[in-house]
Amino acid sequence: MKAAEQVIGDVMEQVRKRNPNEPEFHQAVLEVLESLEPVIERHPEFVETGILERIVEPERQLIFRVPWIDDNGRVQVNRGFRVQFNSAIGPYKGGLRFHPSVNLGIIKFLGFEQTLKNSLTGLPIGGGKGGSDFDPKGKSDFEVMRFCQSFMTELYRYVGADVDVPAGDIGVGAREVGYLYGQYKRLTTLYHGVFTGKGLSYGGSLGRTQATGYGLLYFLEEMLKDYDQSLKGKTAVISGSGNVAIYAAEKAQQLGALVVAMSDSNGYIYDPDGIKLDTIKQIKEVERKRIKVYREHHPSAQYHEGSKGIWTVKCDLALPCATQNEIDEESARILVANGVTAVGEGANMPSTPEAIKVFQNNKILFTPAKASNAGGVATSALEMTQNSMRLAWTFEEVDAKLKDIMVRIYRQTSKVAKEYGFEGDLVKGANIAGFLKVADAMMAQGIV
Ligand code: NDP
Repeated sequence: MKAAEQVIGDVMEQVRKRNPNEPEFHQAVLEVLESLEPVIERHPEFVETGILERIVEPERQLIFRVPWIDDNGRVQVNRGFRVQFNSAIGPYKGGLRFHPSVNLGIIKFLGFEQTLKNSLTGLPIGGGKGGSDFDPKGKSDFEVMRFCQSFMTELYRYVGADVDVPAGDIGVGAREVGYLYGQYKRLTTLYHGVFTGKGLSYGGSLGRTQATGYGLLYFLEEMLKDYDQSLKGKTAVISGSGNVAIYAAEKAQQLGALVVAMSDSNGYIYDPDGIKLDTIKQIKEVERKRIKVYREHHPSAQYHEGSKGIWTVKCDLALPCATQNEIDEESARILVANGVTAVGEGANMPSTPEAIKVFQNNKILFTPAKASNAGGVATSALEMTQNSMRLAWTFEEVDAKLKDIMVRIYRQTSKVAKEYGFEGDLVKGANIAGFLKVADAMMAQGIV
């Protein structure tokens, strides 16, 4: 039989050949495969049954035209995607991203990550992801509505409460989810939990809005405890000012950290006295304006053009919560030189492989997104449970379950890392732990 290293090399070569021009997808797969060598050595049956070849190939990929009419009466056409990656442990589950940078490779990287992340939550959800190259920025509410209705007019055939359950992601928040859900209901006459991140008046869960950001901090707190540290008194820099960033900042502040910088895709603000989150929420959630407006409210703060500069701000904790590959090797080196002690990933794959190496070589505590941002999807699964039961839990109930799940994910990830000889390496721990459950379910279900 081929050595594990050879098996992995062959699978990776096939992924590159079969999916050309999809660098983010290659990056996500490579990181996981590289972690799996000792797993393959222990489990030759995974090789015999082609688990690796199958797990890197989505079960189904949908690409569709999304025509809509703008406020000037002109026809616009976007491209829609839904990648149903893996349903071994439950119905496909994963968000929709609306951003001009969206293409099939981005959706596949996110769907692949999602499969392992969902497995880590311990809940019965498979992996999927979708979206469009539509840019909600600068569009009127009616334009966004017409786009969402057109998008769902195609997607509704492929989703359902026990089939595939989308949610939000970049560019898809409460407004978009509402329009998408409304159109789904109109087309199917079904009132069921086909979406998560819904508004509270129509089946949403308390705590879902906060879940990814809060979950990241619960995970981080648990990790810091293992190193006799806490968040109290630490200075934090958080990139982004969307859903994940805002609630990561809120929980970080509640746990005693001082958040001094946040960003959007244009630039970042630095407020050494601590970011005033009420202002950020007003600017971003209500007015949908750029982050530089913050200075109009707090003139002592600084605004700098360019989002990458945020990593030059001195801090103890760096929490990337904006987008993929936002911390490169150069930024990682600057963070280390400035004394960062922990990096917690809130966004999906925000650190490049080179950046992760810099953190690991310098013994910086590092939480990989797959594990540390799983709180959002875990709470989505709790929303699905409530919808099925026709019940609504209180915020405190949901938050307690979220905390419990994040603590469990940290414990499991660090235990598995140790078991496989990578003590303290949560990247490997998360990849292996997430993979094992999916592989086990795939084995049990035969070659499908
Ligand atoms: P939002 O759309 O709410 O916010 C995204 C934020 O990131 C905005 O501040 C945006 O700035 C900024 N951003 C987006 N693209 C870029 C870019 N190319 N360069 C710099 N900044 C950028 O999205 P979310 O907060 O929901 O998602 C953020 C990250 O977290 C994504 O990686 C997502 O996949 C991940 N995630 C989200 C979950 C959730 O529950 N929402 C769950 C798990 C992961 P601007 O407004 O200028 O575009």
